[in-house]
Amino acid sequence: MGKQTKFIFVTGGVLSSLGKGVAAASIGALMEAHGLTISMQKIDPYLNVDPGTMSPFQHGEVFVTEDGAETDLDLGHYERFTTIQTTRDSNFTAGKIYWSIINKERRGDYLGKTVQVIPHVTDEIKSAIRRFYGEVDISIVEIGGTVGDIESLPFLEAIRQIGLEEGPENVVYVHLTLVPFIPTSGELKTKPTQHSVKELRAIGIQPDFLLCRSDRDLPQEIKAKIALFSNVREENVISARDVRTIYEIPLNFHKEGLDQKILEKLHLPRREPDLRKWEDFIRKVKNLKEDLEITMVGKYVKLKDSYKSLNEALFHAGVANGVRVVQRWVEAEDILEQGPEKILKDSLAILVPGGFGERGIEGMIRAVQFARERKIPYFGICLGMQVATIEFARNVAGLKRANSEEFDETSPHKVLIMLPNLRGVRQMGGTMRLGAYKCKISRPSFAYSAYGKDVIYERHRHRYEFNPDYREKLEKSGLKITGTHPESGLVEIIENHDHPWFLGCQFHPEFKSTPFNPHPLFVSFVRAALRRKKGEI
Ligand code: GLN
Repeated sequence: MGKQTKFIFVTGGVLSSLGKGVAAASIGALMEAHGLTISMQKIDPYLNVDPGTMSPFQHGEVFVTEDGAETDLDLGHYERFTTIQTTRDSNFTAGKIYWSIINKERRGDYLGKTVQVIPHVTDEIKSAIRRFYGEVDISIVEIGGTVGDIESLPFLEAIRQIGLEEGPENVVYVHLTLVPFIPTSGELKTKPTQHSVKELRAIGIQPDFLLCRSDRDLPQEIKAKIALFSNVREENVISARDVRTIYEIPLNFHKEGLDQKILEKLHLPRREPDLRKWEDFIRKVKNLKEDLEITMVGKYVKLKDSYKSLNEALFHAGVANGVRVVQRWVEAEDILEQGPEKILKDSLAILVPGGFGERGIEGMIRAVQFARERKIPYFGICLGMQVATIEFARNVAGLKRANSEEFDETSPHKVLIMLPNLRGVRQMGGTMRLGAYKCKISRPSFAYSAYGKDVIYERHRHRYEFNPDYREKLEKSGLKITGTHPESGLVEIIENHDHPWFLGCQFHPEFKSTPFNPHPLFVSFVRAALRRKKGEI
């Protein structure tokens, strides 16, 4: 049955958005730094089967795994902080759990019994949580939501039961809370933490560690007070102070001794962790002297979380180039209303990220045209590649009213269309092309110069494809198709070579960027922006 896998459960209290995902990922990074193998899971209490159907305004980014699951954005943190590759088994929602139970019930698998939350729902949750049992040293499981939510109860009950079944030396409960500083009284307040722990204890979970989010380090007397009221050992009350970059968190937790104390609780051998790559990265971040502005043209402009992986990928690529990337977000509709000149004339580089729906499209097309004609480095991701194709078809190849089927079904030149049933594509049901696909890169190309490889694998999440019927026509007009899916011939990368740096890709490269492996396309794009700033291009 393999090895004894130990569990670290991460719960959250007081309020959401305290950074539970990053905290869990940081613990994962520390465990790996101690030479242990890990798995990481996020359990979300909401009833959607996956976040794929939720609005980005509600949920933030949908993170796509290599095997094509649409998942919670915290999985992105797990992949950026650790060496693991998440899969469809790394994210469970209440919807997915109930779906499976109801299917079993319909098949008659419960043999006439009444199906109940305890034990049936909790058993299903436990088996999802034990998915990596025997395969890794430590399974880290983050429970979404905050303690006290009605939806969370069966999940907390399940992890309570696992604690009992596995024994105290095999399970650690970590609880993240907030310790706010109240300026009027000049005090750090422990009451929200006390209440949140009380709530957790009422359902039978005694946390072993408290991670206390605060704008400053907790003084010892505050730690002592929290310890006393929450029945947690004083040395296990850990400061989780605000940081300039989230990549400082593993090092800060280590300074607080969190990794060593977790290993002690789990009866695992303690050694000096290897944190050199983290120290090197933070040193580089602290030495960044120069800002570099990149213009982002989109429509979820006000919602930072909907482009989490993209923000991180730009940050990583900036650090690799020795600059701090500053994003200047522009509403696509404003470009149409006010004209590109006014809004984009000082842009060093323009990026159009992924997106769905018609709003803002014409503004994005104007932005592409401006970038192409003014020789401003342009990077189009998914939708950004599609609008670049439309712009080229209209303004270079002379195909009037060219468009994507998604935005204009009556267009005489649908250069992007929905292509069902392609060989090697979309066998998984649903209408989106999801997950990693092979892409063959031709030379010479910006893509090859960036990757230095002929074959790459990148993740997709889209419905529409470059229309093969227009390939010849657009190529004759000068569009370079430098990346294709070998089995189906689908177009994955387009470029414009009458330009210092112009590339659109049908996939989402941002999902694979990490601080230690910044993504080649982003690194190359940021370098082009930097060269433009210096007047070299
Ligand atoms: N809306 C486009 C499509 O579905 C692009 C999707 C995206 O940018 N992820 O093909």
